Amino acid sequence: MQVSQQVRHNWTKQEVQQLFDLPFNDLLFKAHTVHRENFDPNQVQVSTLLSIKTGACPEDCKYCPQSARYNTGLERERLMEVEAVVAKAEQAKASGSTRFCMGAAWKHPHERDMPYVIDMVKRVKELGLETCMTLGMLDADKSDQLAEAGLDYYNHNLDTSPEFYEKIITTRTFQDRLDTLHNVRESGMKVCSGGILGMGETAGDRIGLLMQLANMPTHPESVPINMLVKVAGTPMENVDDLDHLIFIRTIAVARLMMPQSHVRLSAGRQAMSDEMQAMTFFAGANSIFYGECLLTTPNPETNKDLMLFKRLGINPEQGISEDDETQSAMLMKDLQAEQDRGHFYQA
Ligand code: SF4
Repeated sequence: MQVSQQVRHNWTKQEVQQLFDLPFNDLLFKAHTVHRENFDPNQVQVSTLLSIKTGACPEDCKYCPQSARYNTGLERERLMEVEAVVAKAEQAKASGSTRFCMGAAWKHPHERDMPYVIDMVKRVKELGLETCMTLGMLDADKSDQLAEAGLDYYNHNLDTSPEFYEKIITTRTFQDRLDTLHNVRESGMKVCSGGILGMGETAGDRIGLLMQLANMPTHPESVPINMLVKVAGTPMENVDDLDHLIFIRTIAVARLMMPQSHVRLSAGRQAMSDEMQAMTFFAGANSIFYGECLLTTPNPETNKDLMLFKRLGINPEQGISEDDETQSAMLMKDLQAEQDRGHFYQA
């Protein structure tokens, strides 16, 4: 079986369909081989996500508990103080994260918010962490301001295919999303962009989403693949569950189409067994969000992640820290301590 995969930007629907149609074992073998050609298969990059401004968002994304339009019982919070954000970043670093992502439930940042978010970027970078933000739409000027502050990544998901998109969000267009990603690239920042599976989309929509991402002139460096977390009060609370094998297949196809990008397991990990997560790592996922909360939905507890890494022989990817004791060594020390306390198999 021919498995090497060039970086390409001209995927056709038929080709992607053929990948999805492969027997499961053939698809996973192909994806894993390409993964090995491009990455250490036993390393996973670890990011922490903090909600720096929660709730009361004017957008109407039908999956999101932070939209002001849905009654989900979420308490709205103002923009966090810079010092509080820095304290969270210090904790994330101590837990082994190499990247700190800060998310705000905004349509877009206002001019009055910019000095605060710029300060956050600078202060978090001083800790030796990579920085990422997700603040909604960005025009060229604000994108430049964030890049000048030193922001490494900007997250802005496409969510789904262009065709299904208007059934999910009506307050901003698919083109608005592409424009923001264009501005981020033009400013010289790295792009984090992916989507959500399990929103009632068709197989064709999953193909359409991956084609949009993989046919960009430069692939997003980070591609989060979320599984819908069905939150009571949102219009999606009763959507049918997605077949987990389809989720794993989608990770594998993403790996094949974007062989040099980090494919990230993001929201929805709590609904995944350890065995399923292990299979997604085999299929090509090599990044996770780590910590107790993914914005406002539950994320597996940090220790559970550490234990899974240990059981799978996975090491967290080295960060940019120059500390004498590397983050990886710190994580492994934590793991050993957990094991010594008898917590290893209890999570
Ligand atoms: S996904 Fe983002 S933009 Fe959409 S409602 Fe939630 S916070 Fe607002």
